[in-house]
Amino acid sequence: MYDVIIIGGGPAGQSAALFTSKGGLTTCILDNEKGLTQRALIKNHYGVEDVSGGDLVAVGHKQAEKFGTDIKKANVTNVVKKDQGFTVETEEGDNYEGKQIILATGANAKLAENIGLHTKPGDEPYVKHVIDVDAAGRTNIEGIWAAGTAAGVSVHTIITSGDGAKVAVNLMSDLKGERYVDHDAL
Ligand SMILES: Cc1cc2nc3c(=O)[nH]c(=O)nc-3n(C[C@H](O)[C@H](O)[C@H](O)COP(=O)(O)OP(=O)(O)OC[C@H]3O[C@@H](n4cnc5c(N)ncnc54)[C@H](O)[C@@H]3O)c2cc1C
Repeated sequence: MYDVIIIGGGPAGQSAALFTSKGGLTTCILDNEKGLTQRALIKNHYGVEDVSGGDLVAVGHKQAEKFGTDIKKANVTNVVKKDQGFTVETEEGDNYEGKQIILATGANAKLAENIGLHTKPGDEPYVKHVIDVDAAGRTNIEGIWAAGTAAGVSVHTIITSGDGAKVAVNLMSDLKGERYVDHDAL
């Protein structure tokens, strides 16, 4: 059983995975590779020169894998709560077990609604519904979190990736019982 399963491997999901896997939690990203970031040309991501969305996501993929994240291509169809953790079901027929789940599924709230997560109208252009989360990123189902566009933040890579990191840090702080900080120094 993974400590954390992240559904969606865009900027929010990969950034969350970087933190959880670097912090020692076994982490899996399930992504159906239908993300629209591939079509973006990004000139407004702090600290990064002009970069295509494809290149940004490819570097994020490498970073998350470096810290041990398993990244698998899969279309998630359902998440079912068990006595201990969750079973994540996929169209491909494989099931994955996870103690904590982060939904970072972008603009489409269909999966969230299937699972029984509360949603609300989105404010951003083209984002009809978003998952209703508290300030930390918790949903109405304990153990399921949401980040990035799926959680209603502004649709810019610096913000969605930052939100993924925020939710991961909050999840890890909850598990630890104290604020989690990940600093490396020279
Ligand atoms: C054409 C275009 C240009 C843009 N230009 C800029 C720009 O210049 N600057 C900027 O800051 N931002 C730009 N953006 C916005 C930026 O791409 C988004 O803010 C950001 O990618 C959202 O990140 P996210 O991780 O929340 O969602 P996404 O990047 O949408 O990632 C969601 C991921 O979840 C996966 N997924 C969804 N459902 C499932 C499921 N059921 N099972 C498995 N996987 C699933 C998707 O395939 C996708 O990979 C642009 C976007 C587009 C489309």
